[in-house]
Amino acid sequence: MPSDAGDSSSLPSLALRGVWKHYRRGEEDIQAAADVSLELRAGSFTCILGPSGGGKSTLLHLMGGMDRPDEGEILVFGRDITHLKSDQLSAYRRSDVGFVFQSFHLLPTMTAAENVELPLAIAGVSLAKRREQARALLARVGLLDRAGHRPHQLSGGQAQRVAVARALAADPQIVLADEPTGNLDSQSGLEIMQLLKSIAHEDGRTVVVVTHNEEFIPFADRVVRIRDGRIHSDDVRTTVSAAASAGREAGAASSVRFGTLARMALSAIRRRLGRATLTGLGIAVGVAATVLLMGLGSGLESGVVAGLTSFGPLTSITVSPQRVSGTTSPFAPNTAAGPTTPITPRSLSKFAALPGARGAYASVMFLATLRAGGVNTMTSILNLPPVQLSSVSGLRPTLEAGAWPAGNGILVSSADAKALLGGKKPNPDKLIGRTISIQPEGMSGGVFGGGTGLVMPPRRLPFVKLRVTGIVTANGANYIPYTLAISWVRQVSGSTSVTYPGATVIGRTITDVGPLAARIGKMGYGTTTVKQILKSITSSFSAIEAGLGVIGGIALVVAGLMISVIMSMSVLERRREIGILRAVGARRKDIARLFLTEVGSIGVGGGLVGLGLGAAAGEVINAVISRHASFHGGIFHLPAWLLILGLVFGAAVSLIAGWIPAARAARLDPVTALHSE
Ligand code: ADP
Ligand code: MG
Repeated sequence: MPSDAGDSSSLPSLALRGVWKHYRRGEEDIQAAADVSLELRAGSFTCILGPSGGGKSTLLHLMGGMDRPDEGEILVFGRDITHLKSDQLSAYRRSDVGFVFQSFHLLPTMTAAENVELPLAIAGVSLAKRREQARALLARVGLLDRAGHRPHQLSGGQAQRVAVARALAADPQIVLADEPTGNLDSQSGLEIMQLLKSIAHEDGRTVVVVTHNEEFIPFADRVVRIRDGRIHSDDVRTTVSAAASAGREAGAASSVRFGTLARMALSAIRRRLGRATLTGLGIAVGVAATVLLMGLGSGLESGVVAGLTSFGPLTSITVSPQRVSGTTSPFAPNTAAGPTTPITPRSLSKFAALPGARGAYASVMFLATLRAGGVNTMTSILNLPPVQLSSVSGLRPTLEAGAWPAGNGILVSSADAKALLGGKKPNPDKLIGRTISIQPEGMSGGVFGGGTGLVMPPRRLPFVKLRVTGIVTANGANYIPYTLAISWVRQVSGSTSVTYPGATVIGRTITDVGPLAARIGKMGYGTTTVKQILKSITSSFSAIEAGLGVIGGIALVVAGLMISVIMSMSVLERRREIGILRAVGARRKDIARLFLTEVGSIGVGGGLVGLGLGAAAGEVINAVISRHASFHGGIFHLPAWLLILGLVFGAAVSLIAGWIPAARAARLDPVTALHSE
């Protein structure tokens, strides 16, 4: 210890000047300290005696910065500690004072060595350094062989020696012991008194011991008797002139290391594993619900969008003869229809000649009866794009088997092929190459044609024979070549002036689509672009996703409330632990951080479990759905952002929920916390 100032030895290490402390108990006003003045020197061993309730503990708490006087000053090497801020007072306790208590107040989950290390851990000393110091101190109190034992494995005398070692950990100038022998047998009591005396005389520390045992008076250099908060007698028996240690400024408080916080949090979690599991489970359920619901929303969206793009490329515009007011969406049928402008072969040439247009063709959907081997099935038939546009990707359906039709050929959907073949497990490919009969019954616009409704032929048309060239699955529709479809339009409409129920216009690029659709609209037609549909569907699904997210959010809020209640209970139960930490110098924010680390770990752990549960449930849903429907890729998707969001949610909810209990723990008064059961 530095001994820099010559006058520091003349300064009392601890001086009380006119100190008063009142307590209110109901109507009663208790004077726990009444005008106490006392000067103590470094290297002195002082015993405070007096009846129970006389104010001995109060005095010790005031000296140790655990409490503040109502009036008067307490000077430590001339420095007044009564007006220090809370954090400064914590720093004083951490570096200048060591406390020893009647009931040892060791932390039960920690080993003897860890208990000794505690003040150093709180001061932010590195693990290696504090291990070394703890071993040295345990050696000094003769308990090196018990370093790994927990408090319940130690005798009372051993536990108190560990507590003395802890009091010395930060190398304090002042050691305060409140009835340290009260719970010990007389032999152990003597040993502790001997130890405390050596701490005063050999180390030159200021040691104050409260006792009610007159037997120990011979140990003391000075005996102060206290009654009703007042000094009753003050008997200086030996004047000590130990080499006083100079007053130290409390070292800049470095924060408790995160590793220390994490270790303490984990040990607390382990101690109450059941409760921590319950808390974590609450978070897990909340995160799982959020992840599952949002994963379903996101999967539904991408699944439907993927399905939709099969209707046509983003450069295509579906044109209907009827202008539509209001939005166009597969979820909202076009009821608000405006005036009609017929689509004629001439209009098709006009569309194709518009700036930005790559081509235009009629699109029709026929209602037809298919017949093969005596089996009839009613179905729909669409036209393929004309040959000159067949290179535009996305205009044609995907061929499952066979080849593209020409002349009197047809692509049959796998569903219709199965129906026509009959039997138990028909193989659609068996239909390829066979000729089937088809009777057109009526026609309407293409997939989003709308407007014109069904056009029926003036009289029933005969069956025509078509050769099956391939199988398709898209939309469940069948496809015929463009020229065949145009000849059918003539037959169904039964007139020489041909009008088409719908048309498709292809833009050169995606950016051409908007202006092109606007021009066609000005000509009096209704237009729908794939882009528009995607937009309306995407926004519908965003709404669904948000709704699902809210449900998951509610689950998380409930989990948060659970955490808050459980943490509040935990703070109540652990008041003594909080008191011990405060006594060895933990600041309020250290306590808050400890609790937040604990609840944060539970949150992250619960979040991880929740992610697992949510993903597993999503996979189960995917498996069940893929058994009953052909929904490619499943409807549950777990994008990376959702993984991160789930974890952040778990941690954030638990931190927010743990905030109030943690703050309450930090605000606890050290003395009250220490003496609560
Ligand atoms: P001792 O340690 O000598 O037994 P204390 O210092 O613990 O005495 O208590 C002195 C008096 O102050 C007692 O009457 C006690 O009941 C009272 N007292 C101590 N702490 C409080 C408190 N936090 N609130 C109310 N009264 C208290
Ligand atoms: Mg007491």
